[in-house]
Amino acid sequence: MKTISAELAYFLRGRAKQNLKILWYYSFFLLLLVLVYASLFRYLMLHLEGREYSFIAGVYWAITVMTTLGFGDITFHTDLGYIFAALVTISGVVFLLIILPFGLISLFLAPWIEQRLRYRPGFALPADTSDHVLIFGINPTARALIHNLESLAIPFVVITEDYQESLRLEEEEGIRVACGPVSDKKLLYRIRVASARYIFVNLSDPKNVNLCLMIRAICKTPIAVIANDPEHLDLMHLAGANKVVSLTRILGRYLGIRATTQGALAHIIDSFGRLRIAEIPVNCTPFAGQTLEQAEIRQRTGLAVIGVLERGVFTVPSKDTVLAPSSMVVLAGTREQLTQLEQLTGEQAEDDMIFILGHGKIGCAAAKFLDHIPVPYLLIDQTENQNCDKHISVIGDATNCQLLRKSGIEQAKGLIVTTNDDSTNVFLTLSSRHANPQIRIVARANREENVEQLYAAGADFVVSNASVGANILTNILESKESIFLTEGLTIFRRLLPDTLVGKNIEESRIRQLTGCSVVALEIKGSEPLPSPPPDTRLESGMKLVLIGNPHQEEEFTLKFGNKRGAKS
Ligand code: AMP
Ligand code: ZN
Repeated sequence: MKTISAELAYFLRGRAKQNLKILWYYSFFLLLLVLVYASLFRYLMLHLEGREYSFIAGVYWAITVMTTLGFGDITFHTDLGYIFAALVTISGVVFLLIILPFGLISLFLAPWIEQRLRYRPGFALPADTSDHVLIFGINPTARALIHNLESLAIPFVVITEDYQESLRLEEEEGIRVACGPVSDKKLLYRIRVASARYIFVNLSDPKNVNLCLMIRAICKTPIAVIANDPEHLDLMHLAGANKVVSLTRILGRYLGIRATTQGALAHIIDSFGRLRIAEIPVNCTPFAGQTLEQAEIRQRTGLAVIGVLERGVFTVPSKDTVLAPSSMVVLAGTREQLTQLEQLTGEQAEDDMIFILGHGKIGCAAAKFLDHIPVPYLLIDQTENQNCDKHISVIGDATNCQLLRKSGIEQAKGLIVTTNDDSTNVFLTLSSRHANPQIRIVARANREENVEQLYAAGADFVVSNASVGANILTNILESKESIFLTEGLTIFRRLLPDTLVGKNIEESRIRQLTGCSVVALEIKGSEPLPSPPPDTRLESGMKLVLIGNPHQEEEFTLKFGNKRGAKS
């Protein structure tokens, strides 16, 4: 039964669904043709031969003649009648006996057979496949990872147990998928686990453990696992995983860091050799309210300011730009210089009170992080957290503005919005911003497409679960120290396009043409040069480290091509 429904579902999806539409139109055309012939038949019979037939008889005549059955029980006896009958027969042969079966075969049967063959049990990658990435399990994080791998031009295969999902991925998104039970050892051989570059495992925790053990019995290919429960991290390591990522813990920590001004740390968002690119909220630094010139960041720490991020909008500051407490500065420099900056931020501690809306897995992880600093907080959730006996939360619907007011949202300094529903998160962001315009709001986006809406609703920082997970995995693949990036920013590097060789940075007009800024230059055999001055000469073989939003990155690719430098 399951198989039949799966096959039927095939026809309701993607290209097959489109073809089904064509079949409907064609059937409608045939029906119309039969009705026209039936009407003409009745007219000709009456006027040429004086015989009267019912409309049903007309339809019957048209069908028997078109299908060349021609029982001969109703026939014309005049020349014009013969000509008409002959034309009906010929059109029937063409439309019914030639075009219809041909269409059915090419639009339905052939793609269906091709599709079945692709999922034959023997599906295998060619024996010499190597350096590919294997992704077990498909969810929003895996999807964001796929996006990253595609832009890095790294070949990958997704392995899923869900037949429907595998069809959809391949049919609609053109992704290479192997479908089968992940506990099938033969499948592991067929997808060439031994010669893969990296294996990402993103299933339920028990399945993650089983799969790691099975892979380890075959080969030493590095494995990174996303653990659903932070308590299971050790088990995954024991099962043979090289890296185990607890997204819940990382997201909770990030939300906590962004919501408080105490114990603030610069987040490393990317690294190139010794060069680190990091972000830090202005309200954590002594520079709030000062212009960039007054702040003297380079003089005090040696760090170069490469941009300012204000509610998801990245700009390159001038010396007169005022550093607003709600914005974030993006800096380039060494780890030692960042430590120096962090020491300055310690002076800025202020009385803090954080609201956490949503005491699920991530809200609980944020609370645990705040416990450590420690910073006082108040948790609100509509239900009890069954897995947590450490925190007591106010039970109630956070969308109830009166509840928020009564709990003291107007006095709070920070707010973490972390329910599992994005429309609720947008609503909570908007109503809290309205109730307390000064509050620092950090919001979680469960789906990437809602990031912009959360910024528009008034969030200061937005973190999307999926892209954080994907960026962590991508960094693992590229052996980078980087943690992750606030939504709306991306750092990427490209080999200097040939068209720019010999020009200086100003003449290259990269910023005017693409909106991206050159953060640093990598020069073979020497240290990366952060924030190169506009008159820096660009020479062949250099690598550009650029910053922009994802759209600007695409723009760069469009204008200058996609030649990537060697990975660090
Ligand atoms: P998790 O995805 O595990 O971080 O859980 C999200 C949490 O948000 C759950 O504990 C939900 O009960 C909670 N939640 C969802 N909607 C609301 C709401 N309107 N008010 C309060 N809590 C909510
Ligand atoms: Zn808790």
